[in-house]
Amino acid sequence: MKKHKLSVSLEPLKSKIKFFEPMKKHTSLKVGGPAEIYFQPSDLDELGLFLSNIDNDIPIFWLGRGSNILVRDGGISGVVISSSLISKKIEKIDNNSIKVGANVPCTMLAKQCIRWGMAPSEFFSGIPGSIGGALAMNAGAYGHETWERVDSVKIVDRLGGYHTRKPSEYKINYRSVVGPPDEWFISANLIFDPNKSSSLEKQKEMLSKRKNSQPLGKPSCGSVFRNPEGNFAAKLIQDSGLKGFRIGGAHISTKHANFIINDQKASAEDIERLINYIQKKIIEKFDIQLECEVKIVGNL
Ligand SMILES: Cc1cc2nc3c(=O)[nH]c(=O)nc-3n(C[C@H](O)[C@H](O)[C@H](O)COP(=O)(O)OP(=O)(O)OC[C@H]3O[C@@H](n4cnc5c(N)ncnc54)[C@H](O)[C@@H]3O)c2cc1C
Repeated sequence: MKKHKLSVSLEPLKSKIKFFEPMKKHTSLKVGGPAEIYFQPSDLDELGLFLSNIDNDIPIFWLGRGSNILVRDGGISGVVISSSLISKKIEKIDNNSIKVGANVPCTMLAKQCIRWGMAPSEFFSGIPGSIGGALAMNAGAYGHETWERVDSVKIVDRLGGYHTRKPSEYKINYRSVVGPPDEWFISANLIFDPNKSSSLEKQKEMLSKRKNSQPLGKPSCGSVFRNPEGNFAAKLIQDSGLKGFRIGGAHISTKHANFIINDQKASAEDIERLINYIQKKIIEKFDIQLECEVKIVGNL
């Protein structure tokens, strides 16, 4: 792994910086080699100080709650910024809109919005990531997506500057968001539908559907593949007879074929090999290229 140096002006942040922090501690798949430099700011001032003092050529990876990443065993070169201590507030703006910090868990957002009667918000309930991660992925469930609700976002750039952006500045698709490079979400203003009211019943129904169809509570990253147009990745994998198929410490869930479970101390390599194997089999059988929803990052 390439060694990067930090400037002496970052001395005051010494206690917030770790070197070679194992990423397996920070991902829902429970795999991943070390982050060369792992920075966890306590507030936006520390974040600004850090960003304005690191060299331009140091790569930065932004970590949310780690529920949609596969970090390779060789770890991540450069800096990983964990935002878990900042941007954790939800504020009501008016009866239909809120401002939410990027590190608020989606589950907490759903809970609060349902309490305030704002809908549709129930779909956020079972998504284990942060709002920042949901914005980066256009996370969604049961026919709804994060960006349907976005009025504006606040971002921080590589130099520590803050800007407000509108949805029109992003290319937004199913589980995919492309915006200006080297910018990260700090908060979002969301608008809910004034003609709809939230429902605890609907939330319960969604959570119970999830519980019945997904292997919750086991190390996974949720759906590994995006659904190809007009089809379902899980159905294609199931119809290929791959449920339960194992490589090393990881196997394809017998409950939901689009989930890979790390049940026997898998390496990231086991999981990536399993991903490649599934893709190869689905091309052979159906001539369909499955694309990863999970973000594979780091060094082999
Ligand atoms: C059991 C289970 C169920 C799941 N169910 C669903 C589901 O129903 N629907 C769904 O869409 N997803 C689902 N997921 C996947 C995952 O929870 C979502 O993709 C979530 O939005 C990821 O958020 P995170 O904070 O964990 O992001 P991370 O996994 O930490 O990061 C994912 C990507 O987002 C980027 N990112 C994170 N925070 C920011 C930020 N503030 N600014 C810019 N970029 C950022 C990261 O750099 C990375 O590229 C599930 C996962 C699990 C484990």
